[in-house]
Amino acid sequence: TDTDTADEAVRTTCDDATTCKRFATSKGYWKDPYIQYFARSVGERKAPEINRGYYARVQGVNHLLDAFIRKAECDCQVINLGAGLDTTFWRLKDKNLMPRKYFEVDFPTVVARKIHNIKTKPPLSKPVIETHSTDSLLLDAHSLDSDRYCILGADLRDISNLDEKLKKFQLNPELPTLLVSECVLVYMTPAHSSNLVRWAAETFHTAMFINYEQVNMSDRFGQVMIENLQRRQCTLAGVEVCQSLDSQKERFLKACWEHADALDMMTVYSMLPQDDVARIEQLEFLDERELLQQLLQHYSICWATKDKLNLGLAQLAF
Ligand code: SAM
Repeated sequence: TDTDTADEAVRTTCDDATTCKRFATSKGYWKDPYIQYFARSVGERKAPEINRGYYARVQGVNHLLDAFIRKAECDCQVINLGAGLDTTFWRLKDKNLMPRKYFEVDFPTVVARKIHNIKTKPPLSKPVIETHSTDSLLLDAHSLDSDRYCILGADLRDISNLDEKLKKFQLNPELPTLLVSECVLVYMTPAHSSNLVRWAAETFHTAMFINYEQVNMSDRFGQVMIENLQRRQCTLAGVEVCQSLDSQKERFLKACWEHADALDMMTVYSMLPQDDVARIEQLEFLDERELLQQLLQHYSICWATKDKLNLGLAQLAF
C-alpha cells in the first residue's frame, strides 16, 4: 500500500543520517568510534556545509542531553524516539554519564538491524553486557533489554502500544525523563506528533523533550528541501509545524509542557564552544559561508520542560 511505501522510505532515512555522521567523523569533525559498526562504508564525499551541519546537530543535541543528565545526577532515564542507528548509549557509557536506563524506539525492522549489529560486533555488545548485572539479558531478534539499555520496536504513531511496551521494559514514570527526537517528528502528521508530545507530558512529571528538525520551510530554500525528499518518496507529513520557531514551541506548549525554547541551527552554531568551532572550520575549506548559513537556518532545536521536582530544567540552554 501507499502507507507501506511511505513508511519504508522513512525507515531508510536512518541510513542517510548514519552515513553522513560516519563521513563527518572520518574527517575529524567529532569523535565517534562506534558509528563505523553501523554504516556499511564511509561512503561518498559530502560537501563541507553538510559536515558542518551535522557537527552543529550532534554537538547541539549532545549539549542539552548531557546538561539534563548532569542536572539529574544520572538519576534519570532517556528515551530516544526514532533512534535509528544512533550511538549515544556508547558515548554516555564512555563518558561516565549513563542514565539509570537508556531506551530506544524505532520501527521493528530498523530495530532488528540494529540488534543484529550489536550481537555480531563485540565493541558494541561488550558495553551492553558490562553494564548488566544478572544473567537475564534479553537479546532476541526484535528487542534488547538489559539493566541499562533497552531497544524496542514500535510505531510512534500508536501511543497505547508504545506506552505498554515501554512499561513492560520497566519504564519508570516517577524518574526525571529526557525524550529525544532527531529528524523524526517531521515524518508524522501534526496530529500524531502532538499526541506523542502530549503523552510524554502526561506520563512524566519531571521531563525534558529535545526535538531537532527542519524549520522556516515556507521559503524557496525550504521548498527545494521538500522536493528533494519527495523525489525519494519521503513525505514530510509534519512540515506544517516546521514553519517557524514559534510553531515548534507551540506544539509543546499546547500539549501541557510548562516551558519551551527554540533556536535555529545557525544561532546554535554561533553559541557552541568557539574554540572547537574554529578547529572544525580548519578541516575543510568552505567556499560560500552563505550556503552554510542558509542550510543551518532551515534546521532547529526545540526543547521543552516540566519540572515538578524543581531540578532547574527551565534554565537548561546554550
Ligand atoms: N534519530 C536518528 C538519528 O538522528 O541518527 C535517526 C534519524 S532518521 C532521519 C528517522 C528515524 O525515525 C528512522 O530511523 C525512522 O525509522 C524513525 N521513525 C520515523 N517515523 C517513525 C514511527 N512512526 N515509528 C517509529 N520510528 C519512526
